[in-house]
Amino acid sequence: AKGQGRNNFQFFTEAMNQQVSERLLMETRLRDALGRDELELYYQPQYDVSSNCLTGCEALLRWNSSQGLVMPDRFIPLAEETGLIIPIGAWVLQQACNQAREWDRIHGKPLSMAVNVSAVQFRPELVDEVKAALSESGFPADQLVLEVTESVLMSDVEGSVSLLHQLRELGVRIALDDFGTGYASLAYLKRFALDKLKIDRTFIMGIPDDEDDVAITSSIIDIARHLRLKTVAEGVETEAHCEFLRRAGCHIAQGYFYARPLPASEFELKLK
Ligand code: C2E
Ligand code: CA
Ligand code: CA
Ligand code: CA
Repeated sequence: AKGQGRNNFQFFTEAMNQQVSERLLMETRLRDALGRDELELYYQPQYDVSSNCLTGCEALLRWNSSQGLVMPDRFIPLAEETGLIIPIGAWVLQQACNQAREWDRIHGKPLSMAVNVSAVQFRPELVDEVKAALSESGFPADQLVLEVTESVLMSDVEGSVSLLHQLRELGVRIALDDFGTGYASLAYLKRFALDKLKIDRTFIMGIPDDEDDVAITSSIIDIARHLRLKTVAEGVETEAHCEFLRRAGCHIAQGYFYARPLPASEFELKLK
């Protein structure tokens, strides 16, 4: 039994060592990704639910690494742990604003550009990073939407209230991402200076058959209306999702039913 225990332990440490070195390797590659121009933004179109008009998009990060295309769920956590999300996040902001400014000229109507902001980025310096991205690009502040999650705001309520006010003073819009999945109480919706609620994909998935998802989604839309917040539904995959959202009074929808996240050249084809 003793011998076997040692073997197990050896096996365990070898597996751990392999995990650690894979992580280190990925960290080194991610560190170089910016300089090597391997990061790319994809853009997922957002549509007005009642008119079906394009209203803007959400920027979603991709990493064209030497190992192939890497999705954000696989490298954003590492970027956050290593602090690399700070330069990467600043690049995302600048790139998204530059792109949106260009598309704004092509498209007749003003387009919104939504950018995801990580917990690590959500600190006082973010105000200067946003200011820089806006002034260097010339993109109008009121068309830029910063997406933050409940957990980001709840980890430091007082700090968040103040930071959100500073950001709103720049004129940018704030969307609460993945709404309903975190633990922000409704009372905080009033305290945080918000413009939009993004209804999480997990609720949309159950529509129209799951009674709970139907009830939750309708309630979120009702609450948002009363608080004068816009609603954005994510993960809209079917005609039935659309039909339900239209009747429930949701403003904006985003999902595979309309379009997947697209490389810039493909998104551009949707502009008029
Ligand atoms: P998220 O902000 O909730 O983004 C929505 C995710 O849902 C995206 O995954 C999108 O591709 C996916 N999606 C969109 N429509 C549908 C649909 O109809 N059905 C299904 N099943 N999925 C849909 P993606 O691009 O893999 O991004 C994953 C997460 O990574 C994002 O979740 C966001 O939290 C994070 N992320 C992406 N880009 C950035 C970034 O630039 N900065 C930061 N900090 N985080 C980012
Ligand atoms: Ca988002
Ligand atoms: Ca989301
Ligand atoms: Ca989500």
